[in-house]
Amino acid sequence: MKLTINNLSKTYPNGVKALQDVSLEIPKGMFGLLGPNGAGKSTLMRTIATLQDADQGTVFLDDLHVQNNKHLVRKVLGYLPQQFGVYPKMSAEILLNHLAVLKGITSKNERKEIVTSLLHKTNLYEVRKQNLGGFSGGMKQRFGIAQALLNNPKLLIVDEPTAGLDPKERNRFYNLLSEISEHTIVIFSTHIVDNVKELCTNMAIINKGKVVLKGKPLELIDNLKGKIYQKSIERTELDNYKKEYTVINDKLFLGKPIIQVYSDKPLNNGFTLIEAGLEEVYFSQINNY
Ligand code: ADP
Repeated sequence: MKLTINNLSKTYPNGVKALQDVSLEIPKGMFGLLGPNGAGKSTLMRTIATLQDADQGTVFLDDLHVQNNKHLVRKVLGYLPQQFGVYPKMSAEILLNHLAVLKGITSKNERKEIVTSLLHKTNLYEVRKQNLGGFSGGMKQRFGIAQALLNNPKLLIVDEPTAGLDPKERNRFYNLLSEISEHTIVIFSTHIVDNVKELCTNMAIINKGKVVLKGKPLELIDNLKGKIYQKSIERTELDNYKKEYTVINDKLFLGKPIIQVYSDKPLNNGFTLIEAGLEEVYFSQINNY
């Protein structure tokens, strides 16, 4: 099972080039789509989810041409949008049952079985009678996943799933996605670099509508080995350093700026070599000073 995206481009009527010649191969497992706000992640995900059309390019789920077979694709697709609204006065169980009807699960017994199993899977069984309005952010997201799994999808797309979740809820949510990805293509987008390394078998970084890097997280990190240096500097020196070096990131440590620099050649004069992580991979692609 594999999703193949070929040369996808999309320009909105206002002239924004949201996708520019995007090509990706996404196998079964967890695929992390990283990029800053406005990079084009949602546009890409909505296109894969058949909710909007691209101007150019194709998407294939195995041999199935996605844009030409929207109905077939929707049968095997689960989608959790960025903004997932729930009816606050309904219980989780009742709404999930209702959504199951809408998804065409007409047999009452089958529906009961699926709904119960999904409530267990998403750890919501104990609170199934509670109104969704009283759910925490993490519980709502898990409910969102439960509804996205109603049709036992082959492809699950989740857009920025962890925004607003505390670290514990986020971990729980990621564990759930990871379990699902054993049998499913799971694509999730995020602007938070944390966790992608541990979670994703494959990833891509997208910026300004273009895929700027793709691969396996550990391999991408390995490629930066011995090339990222760090130095504590004075605030007033920052501009000069940016002119002279490939500064990929600057941050404050105890109120003083620290710069991180990419260099193929060894650097001395106060620079120390640091062990690169996924954050450095990300910033080396995003912050092209
Ligand atoms: P991301 O999900 O990475 O934040 P989006 O796909 O939402 O990125 O947006 C990519 C770019 O396209 C942004 O510049 C955004 O403002 C623009 N955009 C998104 N949707 C629309 C739309 N319907 N009309 C016009 N511009 C849009």
